[in-house]
Amino acid sequence: MKRKDMDLKTAIRQADHIVIVGHYNPDGDAVGSTMGLKYLLANMGKAAEVIYPNAYAQNLKWMDPAGSAVIYNERTEKGNALIARADLIFCLDFQALGRTDAMAQPLTESKAFKVLIDHHIGPALNEFDLCFSETAVSSTCEKLYKTVAAELDAALVDKCVASCLYAGICTDTGSFSYACRHAGLFHIVAALIERGADTVRIHRAIFDTFSASRMYLLGYCLHRKLVVMPAYGTAYISLNIEEMEQFHYQAGDLEGVVNYALSIEGVSFAAFFTQRKNRIRISLRSKGEVDVNEFARQHFNGGGHKNAAGGSSFEGLAETLARFERLVPEFYEKEIKPKRTALAEIPLI
Ligand code: 5GP
Ligand code: MN
Repeated sequence: MKRKDMDLKTAIRQADHIVIVGHYNPDGDAVGSTMGLKYLLANMGKAAEVIYPNAYAQNLKWMDPAGSAVIYNERTEKGNALIARADLIFCLDFQALGRTDAMAQPLTESKAFKVLIDHHIGPALNEFDLCFSETAVSSTCEKLYKTVAAELDAALVDKCVASCLYAGICTDTGSFSYACRHAGLFHIVAALIERGADTVRIHRAIFDTFSASRMYLLGYCLHRKLVVMPAYGTAYISLNIEEMEQFHYQAGDLEGVVNYALSIEGVSFAAFFTQRKNRIRISLRSKGEVDVNEFARQHFNGGGHKNAAGGSSFEGLAETLARFERLVPEFYEKEIKPKRTALAEIPLI
């Protein structure tokens, strides 16, 4: 059913085998949107299989209590069979198939009708048949709610769907601290609460379930590994594999660490470097108008949003940090200094 002019309702109605895909290292928005869509499709009488390139963190498990999602790097054959059989594939919370790591090849080869629902900058429009992409929203979960309300029926959102969507909104806004200036978001949150989302318990399930070793690792990062470059409004943290092993690192343990570096007064640009098997993963965050998406694209093979982006380096950790330190002065002059000055001049009240 490869028809570019098909609308969402028709695509779903005609589909026999639906697959929903999230990005590599699925976060709260990726799991919330994919599981939320799975439950929503079930409410339309349509079964769907969710596939992630790798495992999500334990604190998101409550959204998939049955463990129904296929983790591609653990069950590659099963994942390939589902993709090969699919006639409709939803791609959520990423803008290009490359963000699905090893799944990118089977997804590219698939002849299924592909629907993108996302909020990242620069969607690869040629890779999808139907795109619902908007960068002004907080999260894919918000965009999914808007898409359902416009194209399907908001009444399909029950407690189960609402709870998953709330989880994604809550995580992608850092508990409503960024990407949440628009009133429309709060109307949607109100609707999710009316549908039954328990905002207090969801927040607790996601943010108050860390292991003690995660807290020790966080303490180590802040006490021993935080580098502040006050002259450039920049701070960064790095971890090598030995350090991560020393603290019994588990998926999700490093989620949010970069935000501590950004929360220092006078810091408008924060970075977090973690050594992986064959690369260095980089998380970038910024305040206000300072744009880290462009920085990630230009220097670290990545991208994302204005205030939160990521990328990779294929040099060693020391080389990557040295290169980063060399890039910072120019980034400060071009991006940080002019933009943060402009923002500071606007009175808050
Ligand atoms: P995080 O630092 O939490 O891994 O990612 C921050 C944001 O940047 C997320 O919205 C994520 O989707 C995006 N991002 C992270 N890594 C990459 C990457 O390698 N490429 C692109 N295009 N976006 C990324
Ligand atoms: Mn997202």
